[in-house]
Amino acid sequence: MRLKGKTALVTGAARGIGRATARVLAREGAHVGVADILPEVEKTAKEMANAGAKAAAAVFDISDPLKVREGVAEIQEALGPIDILVNNAGIVNNIAPLKLMRSEAWEREISVNLSGAFHMIQALIGPMVERRWGRIINISSGAATGGLHRQAGYAASKAGLLGLTMTVTLEHARDGITCNAILPGLIETELVREMPEEILKASLAAIPSRRLGKTEEIGRLVAFLASDEAAYINGAAIPVDGGMTLNTGSLGSRKEILERPGGRRTVTCDHGPQGL
Ligand code: NAD
Repeated sequence: MRLKGKTALVTGAARGIGRATARVLAREGAHVGVADILPEVEKTAKEMANAGAKAAAAVFDISDPLKVREGVAEIQEALGPIDILVNNAGIVNNIAPLKLMRSEAWEREISVNLSGAFHMIQALIGPMVERRWGRIINISSGAATGGLHRQAGYAASKAGLLGLTMTVTLEHARDGITCNAILPGLIETELVREMPEEILKASLAAIPSRRLGKTEEIGRLVAFLASDEAAYINGAAIPVDGGMTLNTGSLGSRKEILERPGGRRTVTCDHGPQGL
């Protein structure tokens, strides 16, 4: 119950990582507001309330600053001032090589994934400064530091979130506020599970842990970053990706992937064989 007495707001909590994160925060004792463009977010709030947490939901589009103000006011009316903001809502709607990428699709990704987080922070930072305590956690992506083939808009928006994260820290660390980014790798959500089998297989082979991440594994890091224990972690970008962003392109790694795409292996060393 590390978050007892705190109130959190999680965007994009109708499903996937956002819903799992909201549940983890509620289990840690926080009151939890959930927001999404989808009305299904009400279900997330109901589930948490049924499990004994104080919860509220609001339906709005984070890319619209006016709707953000109204939605945040609705949550605050139900739960009180927000101590913890989790900017999780995000979209991928734009998979095309640079030359063919439509500018409207590029702009929508930037306006949801990057400007949406900015609007949320602007709406909530004032009261956090007044109370001299706040936690902002931005869900970025491994694409922020590694790029992503045929997803320039998404990768640019997620890299932009890192600049935003560092700047919030520079401006507000002395106000008792921390702002950090999480860089998930491939996390097991509905969309990822629906990927064509051969693409999923190839992706798994390039993850040193040889498995997808669980949505709760992101939620648990969010809960830690939101707690008092993490007060001195500020402006950081933390990968949660089973080692996916390490150098899997080296000759040794590629040989290993070709020989054992599935994972388990036996290594023979001077001291005899060891099952790993
Ligand atoms: P998801 O699509 O399952 O959930 C995203 C949620 O955001 C949805 O409920 C959606 O309705 C909501 N949303 C979208 N646009 C919105 C808007 N304009 N206003 C309010 N809500 C909006 O995705 P997910 O896999 O759970 O991803 C959550 C976050 O994690 C995203 O920011 C995503 O980019 C990031 N991420 C996910 C993965 C992964 O492998 N799943 C990897 C890296 C980063």
